[in-house]
Amino acid sequence: MQKPQHTDHQIYYRDVVFYRQVLIAVALCGVTVAMPFAAWHFIWGNPLITYLLLPVIALQIVSLVLLIRHGFNHWIALFLASVQMGVTVIINIQMGVLGSYWVIASAVANYYIVSRNRALAINVIACIAVLPLAFESSDIMFRFAMANAMINVFLYAYARQLETKNRELEELLTKDPLTRAGNRTALENALIRVKNQHLRHNTPVTVLMLDLDHFKKINDTEGHTAGDKVLKRLADLLRARLRATDSLFRYGGEEFVIVADNTTLDQAAYLAEDIRRRVEKANELTVSIGLAELQSGESTEDVVSRADQALYKAKQMGRNWVCFDPV
Ligand code: GH3
Ligand code: MG
Ligand code: MG
Repeated sequence: MQKPQHTDHQIYYRDVVFYRQVLIAVALCGVTVAMPFAAWHFIWGNPLITYLLLPVIALQIVSLVLLIRHGFNHWIALFLASVQMGVTVIINIQMGVLGSYWVIASAVANYYIVSRNRALAINVIACIAVLPLAFESSDIMFRFAMANAMINVFLYAYARQLETKNRELEELLTKDPLTRAGNRTALENALIRVKNQHLRHNTPVTVLMLDLDHFKKINDTEGHTAGDKVLKRLADLLRARLRATDSLFRYGGEEFVIVADNTTLDQAAYLAEDIRRRVEKANELTVSIGLAELQSGESTEDVVSRADQALYKAKQMGRNWVCFDPV
């Protein structure tokens, strides 16, 4: 039995590692701050806060253990954010204005723990809860509401901008700028993802490798810019034919790879033949295609290499052919 691999290049994966560390830090801070706080209130005659904090400390320890053992989880994140905000609200109501600092601190932390929309929702609910119950004068109430609103507006905008920039960065790292197909990095990630899926659920995966026939002729006779346009058109044609579970990558100059998830060799052969016919019909060019289905225990490099060998066979047969590697 092979172990699932992680995809090192995936930004999403890096984020999950980051968020796991943030959550562990938040839970640790929560426990280390809450414990002396609970003891202090017990000794100085405010045991209600101690009794409120004890279950929270216990829950934070449980979250810590889960995070360390199982990694990042959206539900633990939401749970931590809600519990911590709930407790700070109660402390705020108990202590009045002096406790309001914790609500502000928790509001900031929430943008690190959960998505911006969830953080905003939790913070707005917390603000609505403390406003009438924690403050004596409308003057203080107003200042608190304004400070809270400012913090949320700036953090929300910042989180949104960060998401946009991350998406742009991911595009730059994983897309071929000419054809908008995935690049080699994206292909590696996709292969690892479908292989993990195959290991877990035994879903069939077929790799198609395509290469334009006599493409050099286009460059030589019509120029490189015309060649580029042909590549773009081919990528558009392929994308229009593919299903949501198929993904398209530019493997090299005029070679493309399609990873067809949940598709057997037979089903992919039908797809390949349809693509071959469509390309033939669309312009004066033709395409050769090699196919290979991922075998149990086979590496992702090996299945791509078998598809490449099948493509070589299609070229040898005279081009404008679909060939498959039957293992
Ligand atoms: P075959 O049928 O054997 O595949 O013949 P071919 O001419 O297509 O094969 P070969 O792989 O030898 O040539 C590929 C050509 O693709 C070489 C290069 O000039 C061209 N090429 C590679 N990348 C680009 C690109 O980004 N733009 C353009 N316009 N041409 C490219
Ligand atoms: Mg070629
Ligand atoms: Mg080639």
